[in-house]
Formats: sequence, structure tokens, C-alpha cells
Amino acid sequence: YAAKAAGKNRVQTFSPTLLDVDAAAALAVELRAAVEKEQFVVLYQPMVSTRDGRCTAVEALVRWAHPTRGLLAPADFLDVAEHTGVVIPIGEQVLRRACADAAAWRDRGETVALHVNASPSQLAHPRFGAVVRECLETHLLAPGQLIIEITESTVLDSPAVQAGVEVLAGLGVGLAVDDFGTGYSALTTLRTLPVDVVKIDKSFVAGAATEVADQAVLEAIAQMAARLGLQTVAEGVEDAEQQRFVEQAGIDAVQGYLVLHPVPAGELRTWLAGRTGPQAARDRFARF
Ligand code: C2E
Ligand code: MG
Ligand code: MG
Ligand code: MG
Repeated sequence: YAAKAAGKNRVQTFSPTLLDVDAAAALAVELRAAVEKEQFVVLYQPMVSTRDGRCTAVEALVRWAHPTRGLLAPADFLDVAEHTGVVIPIGEQVLRRACADAAAWRDRGETVALHVNASPSQLAHPRFGAVVRECLETHLLAPGQLIIEITESTVLDSPAVQAGVEVLAGLGVGLAVDDFGTGYSALTTLRTLPVDVVKIDKSFVAGAATEVADQAVLEAIAQMAARLGLQTVAEGVEDAEQQRFVEQAGIDAVQGYLVLHPVPAGELRTWLAGRTGPQAARDRFARF
């Protein structure tokens, strides 16, 4: 009876894992085809200044326009892409698309900094720096106009990632630490990397209006960043109360559904155009 129970347990433990492995392998095959067919699209979400409501930068966020399953979020495919290497060509397509879109906005009179996310294996890839430089040259973008976002937890354990970060810094490209505060090494990251922007994780923002501890963390990060000469962005600001607390904590900029959901390039350009001009400036102040 004991052996039978153990056998039964083993089946229960292993079968989901086997299914996961199969599903992941199938997904990897689909992802390679999706790269060939260029099925990845890029949405954009702005960051706005807490001082005057101006758009300080725009973040590129990848989606997979899957032929049958609709528009898929990174959570549906990025882990598998990262572990199978497909993230390299996906990342290149995102970078090229985002630089082309940023150049098109600039050519229509809206110049904003462009944030592009990069995974550890992208940063560790020996060609990443060359691809970035080529994109900047093709679209006549200033290196400082591009900011690469990296998550803190992944950077410090790999010399190849560290080297990739240094190549970017050498090009004059900016560096943002994403999801700041969620890794173990938050403070070490700031000490050892050429960071320009700190993006405070939305988990701190979620409690900012009610949790004393979250308020304290936001204020401490804002003060430390100011002393280090870094810009701060609060991620995931969803309501006016969170916005007010983030502002009071001294954070430089906000990003989140309250300002705008991630939108296609054309919509972002229309939104940008609506933010400039004197009436738009009055509306911005009226909002805060
Ligand atoms: P992230 O870089 O921290 O991006 C912020 C995520 O929060 C985005 O999810 C965004 O849609 C979502 N978000 C924005 N405002 C709010 C809000 O007010 N409330 C809440 N709850 N969420 C909000 P998304 O687009 O699903 O991206 C998830 C993650 O996937 C990103 O997190 C980033 O780490 C990664 N990612 C996205 N695009 C790329 C890419 O092109 N390359 C790589 N390597 N990673 C990417
Ligand atoms: Mg990001
Ligand atoms: Mg720098
Ligand atoms: Mg984040």
C-alpha cells in the first residue's frame, strides 16, 4: 500500500513537469517561426514628470500577435524565449522597431527618451552593443536618448552581463534599473553599475497610500537617488491617491495606468502631441 501511494505521488509530482517541458518545447518552436514572420509588436507607455506633468520618456513593451491566441503579453512567452535563446532575435526586432518609431515621433516634432527592456542573455550577448549602435546610427538617435532597462536581480552574478552593461555605458546609452527594490542586491547595483534611472517596483507603489512601510521605502529611495544624482520613476501608479503619495515622497516621474496604458505607436504619438502647447500644459496642472 505504501509503495502504491508513493507511486501515485510520484505520478502526481512528475506529470505536470513533463507537460510543462513539452509545452515549453512546442512554444519555443512557435517562437522561432514568429521571429521569421515578424509577429512581434511593440506597445508604448509614457513616464511623466511629477513636477510639471511633462512626458519624460516612453517605454517599449513587446507583445506577440499570435495568429490564433490573440495579443500575448511577455509573461506568456518571455521565460521560454530567454531559456531557448529566441529572446535574442525578438529583442533585436523590438529594438529596431522602437528606434524607428522614436525617430518618426522626433521627425514630427516630439522628441522623447526611449526606454527598451533587455534580458540578461541579451546583455550578455557579444553582438548586443553593435546592434544598439547600428540602430542609433540608422535613425540618427543620440545615444543618451536611449535607455536600456535591466532588472537588478540578474545583473551582478554574471561577468558577461556586467561587460555588456559597460559596453552600453561606453556608447553613452543610459541605464535604468527596473523593478528596483525587489532583488537582494538593490544597493549594490547602484554602487557598481553606471545607473542613470531607478524604476521603483510597483509593489511599493501599490501600498504607498496606506502602508507606512511602503511610504518610508519610497521616501528613502527618493532621497538616496537624489544624493547619487539619479532620476526616479514610480512604476504601476493606478490611482490619484498613489500618485499623490509618490509625488510627496519626492519621486521624479510616474508611469502607470493612471496616466496611460501601453498603446500602439500611432496612439502614443497622438497622445504626445496632445500634451504639448499651452492648453495642454494647463490641463496637465489641472490633473494634479
Ligand atoms: P516592466 O519592464 O517592469 O514593465 C512594466 C509592466 O507593468 C508592463 O507589463 C506594463 O504593461 C505593466 N504596467 C504598466 N502600468 C501598470 C499599472 O498601472 N498597473 C499594473 N498592475 N501594471 C502596469 P508587460 O508589458 O506585461 O511587461 C512585463 C515585463 O516583461 C516587463 O516588466 C519587462 O520586464 C518584460 N518586457 C517587456 N517588453 C520586453 C522586451 O521588449 N524585452 C525584454 N527582454 N523584456 C520585456
Ligand atoms: Mg521595464
Ligand atoms: Mg550612464
Ligand atoms: Mg518594472
